[in-house]
Amino acid sequence: MSETFLPFCRPQISPDDIAAVTAVLNSGWITTGAKTAALEAAFCELTGARHAVAMSSATAALHLYLLAKGIGPGAEVITPSLTWVSTVNLITLLGATPVYVDVDRDNLMTTADAIERAITPRTKLIIPVHFAGAPLDLDPIRALAAAHGIPLLEDTAHALGTLYKGIPVGRGADSIFSLQAIKNVTAAEGGVLVTDDDELAAKLRRLRFHGLGVDAYDRATQGRNPQAEVMEPGFKYNLPDMCSVLATSQLARLDRINARRAELAARYHELLRELSQEQPQVQPLAAPAWPHKHSWHLFVVRVPERDTFIEAMKAQGIGCGIHFRAVHQQKYYRELHAKSGAPLPHALPNTEWNSARICSLPLFPDMTAADVERVVQAMRTVLTTR
Ligand SMILES: *Cc1c(COP(=O)(O)O)cnc(C)c1O
Repeated sequence: MSETFLPFCRPQISPDDIAAVTAVLNSGWITTGAKTAALEAAFCELTGARHAVAMSSATAALHLYLLAKGIGPGAEVITPSLTWVSTVNLITLLGATPVYVDVDRDNLMTTADAIERAITPRTKLIIPVHFAGAPLDLDPIRALAAAHGIPLLEDTAHALGTLYKGIPVGRGADSIFSLQAIKNVTAAEGGVLVTDDDELAAKLRRLRFHGLGVDAYDRATQGRNPQAEVMEPGFKYNLPDMCSVLATSQLARLDRINARRAELAARYHELLRELSQEQPQVQPLAAPAWPHKHSWHLFVVRVPERDTFIEAMKAQGIGCGIHFRAVHQQKYYRELHAKSGAPLPHALPNTEWNSARICSLPLFPDMTAADVERVVQAMRTVLTTR
């Protein structure tokens, strides 16, 4: 190939981002401090949540949330299998049981009906996933959780800037955003949990920093209070200022980032409409029926013989991703279920159908329209020459 490799994702780092990180490096305080507090304030402003707690990853935030909710042996947690592995890993590591629910065939999100069928007296938490930048149908899901008195944690890792019926995702429910490198806004690594629950926020702040009675950063002393003592054993999941400031700088242009992603996605849709006429097995996801604003975290398309397709695209100089392989079909979980001999409590036909076919095409703000055309042309070549 004469053209350079087009990766599936590349973070957009602006001169302002670099200046902001450099200023922290020159400031004498690089770990958790005022810049992390500013990032948390920006998340409160964006979502309207009372509290935002920044951590070293969304996975870390999820870990502490599960602990705070007392998830352990005997507890069941309802979640799709078409999710990032960390959710199911942590449920499993805590000795609890993941109960998988199927997703819609064309938007990859679970529904209140599927969740309701999976509720038992042991259900202690529900973790649905906003997928690819589209919102879940939240009204029925939130009503269901409230009616059963079961906590609801929304996985909003894909949904920064997404609106559901005009309201930002993350408002009105405990939610976890990720700032990992491929996400719409990044801190290199990081996660932010938003909540309206004062007690929960205080507990998470303690647990993220050794269980000390104070945060890493004490405003009065411009550092760590040397008198702080352990209130309960905690972890080391704080997010450094060096990382936070990068995310805050990017957050200031979130509207532009997401608008650019939407333009590129629109171009994909135009070109794929033509390609689908020749190749009916090429199917982009469908937009949800409810009013929403999409944040276009991923552009997912279903293709035949996905694994060889991705290899062939790579040979054409184009990187693709998979979001996600169904967790229950991955080695450890496959073997665990095989050993138990019992079938999964709920059939997952749409999850399994999609898990074999989904492919995430390159999508990042610095891509050009010509890059999109190149991707679809490569798809045409790959699909017609095998
Ligand atoms: C990225 C992602 C996570 C995990 O985020 P980290 O910050 O990498 O821990 C969780 N859930 C979903 C759906 C994700 O895409």
